[in-house]
Order: sequence, then C-alpha cells, then structure tokens
Amino acid sequence: MLEFEQRFATEEASLDYLFQLRWPDGFRCPRCGHRQAWAMKWNLYRCACCHFLTSATAGTIFQDTKKPLRLWFRAIWHLTSQKYGANALGLQRVLGLGSYHTSWTWLHKLRRAMVRPGRDRLSGTVQVDETYIGGEKPGKRGRGAAGKALVVVMVEVKEGKIGRIRLRRVPDASGPSLKGAVKDGVDLGTTVHTDGWEGYAGLSKTGYVHEVVRESADVGKNLLPKVNRVIALLKRWLLGTYQGRLQPPHPDYYLDEFTFRFNRRTSRSRGKLFYRLVQQAAAIAPVPAKDIRGGTADL
Ligand SMILES: [Zn+2]
Repeated sequence: MLEFEQRFATEEASLDYLFQLRWPDGFRCPRCGHRQAWAMKWNLYRCACCHFLTSATAGTIFQDTKKPLRLWFRAIWHLTSQKYGANALGLQRVLGLGSYHTSWTWLHKLRRAMVRPGRDRLSGTVQVDETYIGGEKPGKRGRGAAGKALVVVMVEVKEGKIGRIRLRRVPDASGPSLKGAVKDGVDLGTTVHTDGWEGYAGLSKTGYVHEVVRESADVGKNLLPKVNRVIALLKRWLLGTYQGRLQPPHPDYYLDEFTFRFNRRTSRSRGKLFYRLVQQAAAIAPVPAKDIRGGTADL
C-alpha cells in the first residue's frame, strides 16, 4: 500500500504511467502514426505532423472522466486486492466517493476491462460442462430455468492440472448454443472432453477431437473433475461476493471478473495484477454510460 501511494503520489505520475503503457516505444499519433508531438497542458499532446490533439486517456475507459486518474488507479488497486471481488459500497468507502452511483459505474467499467480484448482461446485438452448459476431452484438440463443463467464452463487441463478457463453464458443447452460457446472459447483441433449430453454431439464435425468421458449425463463417477472444481469455486465466489445473486442484464461482467481473477490466480504479485488491469483498461474503448445504466443497482 505504501509503495502504491508513493508510486502514484501525484496526478502527473499516474499520467506518466498510463503514457508508458499506451506508448511503450514513445508517442505515436493515433491518426497519422507520426512519432513526435508537442506536450500541451492537461495531459494533451499535439501531433507535430498532422496537428491532431490527443491524450494518454483518449480512447480508453478513462476518457472524459472528471475524476483524477490517481483515483481510478486507487480503484484498480482496490479491485485487484480483493480476493472475493469488490462491491460498489466497499469501493465508495475506500475512495471516499460521495456518490454510490459513481462507484457502481466505475466497478462496471473496470469489470469490462477484465476481459482481455482479442484474448486467445484455450487449447490442448479442455473439459467442458455447463452449470446453472443464480436463482433459487435447481434447473433442468436442456431447458431454461427461471431466474437462472446457464453457463458453459471450459477448463484447460495441463499436465493434470487446471490451466486457464473460459466462461460463456448461453440461452440453453442445445447443440447450437453449446457449439457456439465452445467455438468462442476453444481453439479448433483441441481435444474436448464432455459427458454424453446430446448437445455436444457433432463437436467432432465442427473441427474438434471430441471425447465423451461419461456416457450418462446424470449419474456415475465424476469424470470431469477439473471442470467441476471450477464450477464449485465459481459458486462459492458468487456466494461470497454477491450472496449468490446474479440476475440479468449484467451477469457476464461477473463471469468476466471471475475469469480474470482465476486465470491469474498464480500471479503472486499484486503489482502485476494491477499492471495488467490498467493495461487492459487502456486498451478498451470508452464505455458509454447508456451501456451501463439499468443494471442491478443493489450490487
Ligand atoms: Zn498525426
């Protein structure tokens, strides 16, 4: 914490950090690609060639913010330090924000940044299964369940251990939905392990090496232990962070947050996690307020 406070003691230091992240090889004009610029006041740079005016925050989620970048960094630091995720109330308290709404909006913007743009798909051997999250009653496979979200859980298995994961919400457990999710999260040619559910039939025709490791979809020994372990952790995390509430329209963000944390669980350095999240926040486009409004305000 002390190190963080010293590192980002001033707004200037925070802007410098962002500048380095955006332009590690030095300034490059986003319009014409020219490498020289005049530094203007307020973090602005004018391209020496085409005179385009830009800044380190332009085109990132920090664009148009009225709050100091320092405060955003503090929010990210807080977010990366919470093992079970952060909630809007906690963030509001830590940052001393007057408005709960601001804190809630920031949290949603930062959750968006947790999805790495153009992230790579899983490969090697991947276990795939679905689970219901949210709601109160257990859901039935292949059909929708009221108040629940059906999530496809994809887990890479490397040398007998759990590697990276991908989570994808689907409308139902039909063939097209499941295949769509797998295509989205897993590289073609990968060996995919599933149970015998008919929705997975045809994966081999889609370009995967499909192995059914359990014929019965309901009974028998647990032959997909890795994916089941991840499902158990996901449910525990949701329970600890959101008291199990996970209602539309925003469940995807929570799944992204879990994925971000899970895939970096072995990263011992909190600084590295912070770096990664700032980097991703700088790499995604600004999030329009209209895309965030209308969510569950009690989260
Ligand atoms: Zn230019």
